[in-house]
Amino acid sequence: MVGTGQGKLRAIVTSSSVVTSMSFASLGLIDPLLRTLDGLGYATPTPVQAQAIPPILKGQDLMAAAQTGTGKTAGFALPLLQRLMMEGPVVASNSVRALVLVPTRELAEQVQQSFLTYGQNLPLRSYAVYGGVSINPQMMKLRKGLDVLVATPGRLLDLYRQNAVKFNQLQVLVLDEADRMLDLGFARELQDVFAALPKKRQTLLFSATFSEAIRAMAGEMLHDPLSISVSPRNAAAKSVKQWLIPVDKKRKSELFLHLYQSKRWSQALVFVKTRKGVDELEGELQRHGISADAIHGDKPQATRLRALQRFKDGEVKVLVATDVAARGLDIDDMPLVVNFDLPIVAEDYVHRIGRTGRAGATGQAVSLVCADEVQLLSAIETLTQQVLQRIDEPDFIPDHRVPQTLPGGQVVKKPKKAKKPKVVGGGKSASLGRWLESAEPAAPAVKAVRKVPSFGGKPAKGGRKP
Ligand code: AMP
Repeated sequence: MVGTGQGKLRAIVTSSSVVTSMSFASLGLIDPLLRTLDGLGYATPTPVQAQAIPPILKGQDLMAAAQTGTGKTAGFALPLLQRLMMEGPVVASNSVRALVLVPTRELAEQVQQSFLTYGQNLPLRSYAVYGGVSINPQMMKLRKGLDVLVATPGRLLDLYRQNAVKFNQLQVLVLDEADRMLDLGFARELQDVFAALPKKRQTLLFSATFSEAIRAMAGEMLHDPLSISVSPRNAAAKSVKQWLIPVDKKRKSELFLHLYQSKRWSQALVFVKTRKGVDELEGELQRHGISADAIHGDKPQATRLRALQRFKDGEVKVLVATDVAARGLDIDDMPLVVNFDLPIVAEDYVHRIGRTGRAGATGQAVSLVCADEVQLLSAIETLTQQVLQRIDEPDFIPDHRVPQTLPGGQVVKKPKKAKKPKVVGGGKSASLGRWLESAEPAAPAVKAVRKVPSFGGKPAKGGRKP
């Protein structure tokens, strides 16, 4: 193990424009994988794939800053499958040769699907384990041994403690969405897992954002890692048009219904803060004849997967979710993300809106923001280094004004009751750039602090069940 310093990382930072006409073959991938990619219609590697595949094939440790939607799953799955084909033993009973740790059940299923897809021409066995479902079938599956095990940390530890999984053959560890795992309070579980793994192994760490806690974890876990980054640190996806509509809290669902109908939205993924809030909005939409479904942590796994599938199939027009759905879910052609409530952790904003504008498409993300949320807004704006454009909806001008925010995370104090809107010239009241016009004194900067446990510290409060 090598120490922590950032100086020890060899960094390659590129923008997404660097990789142009490179082929998968030139990255050194073997024929069965090239045939699979051909069949999938993947013509050229994405930037994260172009950068990650060659060093992973060489057995190097890697620390990659890549948003979901950049093709990062294939970025680690392809070289990992190849290494398992080319090197190492035949897998023994209850053993695993590659372990992929992910934060949520949904992501576990999705990453496992990717392994099945990318490994379709290879004789390797993969499987996903996660909590909330019976452990027995998972134990049965592990008996024969697995080349790739995708797991959430809690269930993996249960299996390990019951001797259902052994790590003595482990060659590769992947931490996918490492930041999310810490946000969800998995720091302690991760340490217990790491303690059980052989020291000699390859470790790959993927994270959309890099907090100090993640860097500390990387310092402990990775050996002389190559550091790659394919998007500006903590920046929101550029292909997503983002704006906010100020509104009173109690009128949010009314505004959502109004927008859904008047803008003729085809489909929307809507994020709500609490499970109760999700259920309420789902009910409200259904009462208005809109086909809506919901996913959150209280729903059984099968129900959640079914809701997601119905949404992907276009049967469901509005999928309402807590942040459990914010990361990793791959939903093709998602045109619109609605932040019905702003997220408590600013980084989640980046992940939420990452559900749209994927794989080169453009998307839209609108946030319905009430006065109470101004500090969350300011934290998001600080993190993403932008001030979100405000667009008033004429019939929904809030009584409780959303205080103005300024570049650099400042909030202009003294929220006042709004005057009745003056509709000048009978036109639309888009108030673009109004945040700059305020003459009121600026309040001290609101810091974009996220509550992440220091690595190895106590789990984040209440974060485990979004
Ligand atoms: P990910 O960031 O891994 O969730 O991938 C986002 C989406 O991009 C998935 O739907 C992949 O199937 C797709 N994808 C990944 N790599 C490529 C590629 N090289 N060419 C075209 N599509 C890709």
